[in-house]
Amino acid sequence: MKKIATKVIHEGYTPEPLAGCVSPPVYLSTTYIQDGVGNFKDHDYCRTSHPNRNMVEDNITALEEAYGTAGFASGMAAISTLILTLKASDHVIVSGNVYGGTYRVFTKVFEKFDIKFSFVDTTDLKNVEDAILDNTKLIYVETPTNPLMDITDIKAIADLAHSKNLKLCVDNTFMTPIFQKPMTLGADYIIHSATKYLGGHSDVLGGFLCCANKEDLEEVKFIQNSCGAVLSAFDSWLILRGIKTLSVRMMAHQQNAIKVAEMLENHPKVAKVFYPGIKSHVNYDIGVSQTSGFGGMLSFELKSGTPENFLKELKVFTLAESLGAVESLVCIPALMTHASVPKEQREILGIADGLIRLSVGIEDTEDILEDLKRAIDCA
Ligand SMILES: *Cc1c(COP(=O)(O)O)cnc(C)c1O
Repeated sequence: MKKIATKVIHEGYTPEPLAGCVSPPVYLSTTYIQDGVGNFKDHDYCRTSHPNRNMVEDNITALEEAYGTAGFASGMAAISTLILTLKASDHVIVSGNVYGGTYRVFTKVFEKFDIKFSFVDTTDLKNVEDAILDNTKLIYVETPTNPLMDITDIKAIADLAHSKNLKLCVDNTFMTPIFQKPMTLGADYIIHSATKYLGGHSDVLGGFLCCANKEDLEEVKFIQNSCGAVLSAFDSWLILRGIKTLSVRMMAHQQNAIKVAEMLENHPKVAKVFYPGIKSHVNYDIGVSQTSGFGGMLSFELKSGTPENFLKELKVFTLAESLGAVESLVCIPALMTHASVPKEQREILGIADGLIRLSVGIEDTEDILEDLKRAIDCA
């Protein structure tokens, strides 16, 4: 089997026969000719399937070693479609500190339809076991979590889920298939916000839902076609192009993040560092056993000073929501990405008001370190 650095570039598209374009054309047509009634080639209508969307879906399927993939207009559309496979009174067990938007859609939208959610610390298998009810259908895990980088043992949860006839979904946005392949560890579904590392350039919104088997994929595609939050032609094209450099980008993100984590750990003005790649990380051993890398996301707390003063001094890091693109970004989760999580819930999760999250970009390492050191000194 081809290695992943080859797959990111070649899977999903071979030069088309008409003009032999090495880079795929963007197919804008919304409908397709039929030889006779109902007798079409590969596609009949663009909401159902589309050449550019199929290319990027096939690429992700190969990278994640999935059975198949559906491409959505956003990560949230992919997550919502997964929940639409359930019905009223079904129960879902969810990692405690999931992405803020995931928490919001589960509690503020789907609970209205009587789907039940229990948020538990999935880093401890016992918590998951205790939360299983007669109506539990799905376990939804994010690993590492955002912004504290908690790590859940995917294989252990997959084994537990399957022993109870439940399905397991893993949000793989942070690690990407370059570092973590949940389906090889037993996951039934994988979620991606392609807006982050897959796209990689802060210029496209998208999401994917990968399925491990034919029945699940057919159900997901049926709901996708019925509800319609599909990935557009140009966005499919942009994400496929972004993925071509995923392998080199992830290595560069990680190289810089390791250097930043080491610097922060040894800095007298830094109180705590959360990065899966440092030995002091609580879940370091599980992380090492299930991933081939640690990614480019980390968080830290200052001993003294204020995040506001720190932010004012930064020149390389940009204050912004989102993550996973070439440029370094900084955010204050309590005020930004996790503002939709109530303060009491944030405190339970350990997301301090002063927690600073970094999405370490691929700029020059020295420039990144210098920027952070200066801002910490001025904080
Ligand atoms: C951003 C994000 C999402 C939501 O994706 P959108 O593309 O913004 O809709 C879901 N999960 C994680 C981990 C994310 O970072």
